[in-house]
Amino acid sequence: MRPPILFPLFADVTTFAGIGSKYAKLLGNLDIKKIGDVLWHLPYSLVNRNIVPSLKNVKIGEINTVEVSVIEHEPPRRKSQPYRVMCEDNLGNQLLLCFFKAYTSSIEKNLPVGEKRFVSGKIESFNNMLQMSHPDYIVKDLKAVPQYEPIYGLTAGITNKFMNKLAEQALQRVPDFAEWQDENFLKQRRFPSFNQAIIAVHHPCNIDDLLPTNPMRTRLAYDELLANQLALAIVRQKIKKQKGRKIAGNGLLRRKVLDMLPFKLTNAQEKVLGEIFADQASDNRMLRLLQGDVGSGKTIVALLTMLNAVECGTQAAIMAPTEILAKQHMETIGPVCEAIGLRAELLIGKVKGKARNKIIADLAEGKIDILIGTHALFVEDVEFNDLACVIIDEQHRFGVHQRLNLSNKGNKADILVMTATPIPRSLILTAFGDMEYSKIDQLPEGRKPIDTRVMPLTKADDVIEALKNKLKQGARAYWVCPLVEESEKLDLAAAEQRFELLQKVFGDKVGLIHGKMKEKQKDEIMEQFKSGKINLLVATTVIEVGVNVPEATIMIIEHAERFGLAQLHQLRGRVKRSNNAATCLLLYGYPISDTARARLQVMKQTEDGFLIAEEDLKLRGGGEILGTKQSGFTNFKLADMSVHQGLLLTASQDAKMIVNNDPDLKTPRGEALRILLYLFERDDAVKTYLAG
Ligand code: ADP
Ligand code: MG
Repeated sequence: MRPPILFPLFADVTTFAGIGSKYAKLLGNLDIKKIGDVLWHLPYSLVNRNIVPSLKNVKIGEINTVEVSVIEHEPPRRKSQPYRVMCEDNLGNQLLLCFFKAYTSSIEKNLPVGEKRFVSGKIESFNNMLQMSHPDYIVKDLKAVPQYEPIYGLTAGITNKFMNKLAEQALQRVPDFAEWQDENFLKQRRFPSFNQAIIAVHHPCNIDDLLPTNPMRTRLAYDELLANQLALAIVRQKIKKQKGRKIAGNGLLRRKVLDMLPFKLTNAQEKVLGEIFADQASDNRMLRLLQGDVGSGKTIVALLTMLNAVECGTQAAIMAPTEILAKQHMETIGPVCEAIGLRAELLIGKVKGKARNKIIADLAEGKIDILIGTHALFVEDVEFNDLACVIIDEQHRFGVHQRLNLSNKGNKADILVMTATPIPRSLILTAFGDMEYSKIDQLPEGRKPIDTRVMPLTKADDVIEALKNKLKQGARAYWVCPLVEESEKLDLAAAEQRFELLQKVFGDKVGLIHGKMKEKQKDEIMEQFKSGKINLLVATTVIEVGVNVPEATIMIIEHAERFGLAQLHQLRGRVKRSNNAATCLLLYGYPISDTARARLQVMKQTEDGFLIAEEDLKLRGGGEILGTKQSGFTNFKLADMSVHQGLLLTASQDAKMIVNNDPDLKTPRGEALRILLYLFERDDAVKTYLAG
């Protein structure tokens, strides 16, 4: 239960006077739904409203605040004309106020002839006449004009003035919190209290106040990071405390599989398997992250891990973030299992009715050794006979609370989390806390470097010419279409357009796949691409994660400048599934920013996913390190991973200490920390793992 002290901040924005469903919807575009969200929406700039004694001192083209007397009103003669009000300052200099499509009555009321008013707004000069269109402020008392006005990120229909008012109202609802940080730590860092800090960040007085390194902002970022780390530390501690079971099979099944493989494991694969088997054999629960770049061979590691459990007479499960990937696992793991006399089943959305019931029944009776599916299906009515090993593939697509759900379900089961995206150490901390991890830091032998080229989109025709030859020679290629920000519809339109264009050249050898398609359609297209029936696949980013078509050796990415580095790396990884030489063309459009150029150069220079991830973090603060904003790594409201990495480490240590000294958060500081967890919505951990 959320503590009542937080109710005001968790109330809907519509509880503000004057905010109905229309404004609520607009604010939703800014991710502002609750009153607390307003607090986290920090100004990114500020204007000095430049209060000047006379019009002689104004800065043309900028905002100025000046006192004037109202001389005369001049209503528009035609509709297209503005309503004009002539004013004068103390020295007799003139200023013309202009109002387009304005309410006459309110202008007359606010600017009575003969009276003095402070007006504040942008002043321009036209034909030697100073003009101000639609003043931001028309007031009697200068106090009503802020000297410094914070500037907020806006959306159509929401003005900055509106956001300012909203922020003021939200600040008034901030309760008086008991301090959740250590007092000595605060003193040492010269951090203010939360209440002081949140007020200060919404009232910047100079540019430095807007920097994320400013003490006010840093304090808040630390609060958020501590909430994040504490939640993870609580989960980790509780899971670790649970006794696990010793899983150490006789190795027979594993031997059989290894003998069947057409290759030898790499040293890196051997190494991580050693770490995993040791975890399984211990009587603590395994909770390990397995990192391995695209194509490093995580699937076989997962299979051998599961077989160890099966050798002990228990069951294992592997879950993927999408149905395509789950099916792909079934395609590789299924036949191997069959060959060694085991039963693997696929449980995804389209398995329904009798077929599903049979799987569920057999699973409960222990007749199924390995279950493959998407996450969604594991949280429902699925009961295992004896589940001892759970593998989560491409973990970054799942949120923290899904992880929590899962660890509850698989009683005592070991958990191995696999991710294809190389994650910098600091980000591992934010997503997984202080979790053990293994790294496959080597690709299978014989992989050739990908020939990566960066070129302008204007060369698309040449690319198509070259593609003609390659496809004739039997190559298979992906053509990934631009990502249009925040609009799947536009994404799709762009992809469809490209598809039609390519169809004119390549006829029915071209296919199109995108996220809006039904699973069945997607399957069919993927099948056709795998079998070579089509050899050019136009795609939106649905192919980003894990898709495995070893024959594909050409990757063309249109408007590559619009993708994040990690995403580009993932995409390029799709053509690195075999020992054939591969090519990746990054086509960029104009305008292209310096950062985007730098990103593309990084791609050209290296294939090392870890390096790319670090560069990405530097270049854009990890904003898209994992391709999606919902990745669970970067959903910080206040902390900025490109500057607050050091704080994260401190928070991690702090969290560890708290959990050691006060595991159930029962001390006064512990009580305050509970509030912090709720405030930053990291309360899953409290609900699931802490008593009252
Ligand atoms: P990822 O880590 O991206 O999931 P996969 O497990 O899909 O990678 O492996 C990529 C490809 O490399 C697969 O075709 C797989 O059979 C192959 N592979 C895996 N391990 C080795 C190895 N040690 N030697 C050669 N090929 C391997
Ligand atoms: Mg994989």
